Amino acid sequence: MRELIIDLDAIAKNLNTMRAKTNGALALAVIKADAYGHGMLPVAKKLEAAGADYLGVADIEEAMKLRAEGIDLPILAWLHSPTENFVSAIDAGIELGIANIDHLERIAKASQQLRRVARVHLKVDTGLGRNGAGAAEWPEVLQKAHELVAEGFIQVVAIFSHLSCTSEADDLNQIARFEAACDEAKAAGIDFELRHLVASDGLLRYPQAHYEMVRIGVALYGLSPFVENSAADFGLVPAMTATARVTQTKRVGANQGVSYGYLHRTAAETTLALIPVGYAEGLPRNATGKAQVSIHGKQYSVNSRVAMDQFVLDVGDDAVVAGDLVTIFGDPAAGVPSADDLAAACDTINYEIVTRMGGRFHRSYLGESN
Ligand SMILES: *Cc1c(COP(=O)(O)O)cnc(C)c1O
Repeated sequence: MRELIIDLDAIAKNLNTMRAKTNGALALAVIKADAYGHGMLPVAKKLEAAGADYLGVADIEEAMKLRAEGIDLPILAWLHSPTENFVSAIDAGIELGIANIDHLERIAKASQQLRRVARVHLKVDTGLGRNGAGAAEWPEVLQKAHELVAEGFIQVVAIFSHLSCTSEADDLNQIARFEAACDEAKAAGIDFELRHLVASDGLLRYPQAHYEMVRIGVALYGLSPFVENSAADFGLVPAMTATARVTQTKRVGANQGVSYGYLHRTAAETTLALIPVGYAEGLPRNATGKAQVSIHGKQYSVNSRVAMDQFVLDVGDDAVVAGDLVTIFGDPAAGVPSADDLAAACDTINYEIVTRMGGRFHRSYLGESN
């Protein structure tokens, strides 16, 4: 009745398309938040087969699920609870993003308990103002890390940071600050293999900042990180198509109020088609009056209130019947609205649209690898 079709071959292709824009940098594929709503495990398996070098998630819990499913790639997790117990993560060989001294101390304890060296990536806040060590803490973090390396508890794999993508000037400041932070790390005697700073946006904008590894998120899913550019501009193919089947149609007369609040009233005798997708599935309620969906290649506007489970289209005298396929969004090359179109209609970004698709949608996969 409701299906998210996930094209894993498109994801593999997007990985290679993005990687080909670098000068041989390693590719860390970001699959946090259930692979931006695409399904973390099938996506991880496909990326492993497609030659991703690293997987990246926010939470250790996400990383543990990947290990439990037999994913052997290096995995980096960077967002930790203040009471995180790092033992199982280190035991599972998960690499940890480190933002402060407290993380370092607790990781060292866990490493000592396990007699296993923890692989860490030191995160410096170069201006985003989110996690990572700020300028004041950075020398202290470096000093502590140096001690723990000498004691055999940790290995510093990388120095990393994240851009704000506010303006080119702000990003260039962050790039300069990042390079200075890496130099400070070297000067503090820390031996690291990798620097990684850019996500999809920075990969496309700043070739000078690819360093040894890039972290690719939204572009993997065939979406543009920029509002002003479409995915096709970068050779990316959208991987998610959200569809449903019309559950019922009925003829009604003129002046029939439709859905809560009667935001739409029929102008004349017409057919109403009921679509079983609501805000519980991730179709934002504020798509009402602004989004378009496609049936048989024709676009209809969602002009009555999106409810929890369903919305209604006024399809006029068109031959729409129960069972017909409705595409809520997909690859615009196929003549259907894109996730960007829906995002614009809802005053948000494509990232939020795909990540929140779920509820009672069933996911089906094309190009699965086992
Ligand atoms: C989410 C995230 C990414 C991926 O960003 P995209 O814009 O989706 O490519 C990269 N790095 C970090 C630290 C993130 O949190």
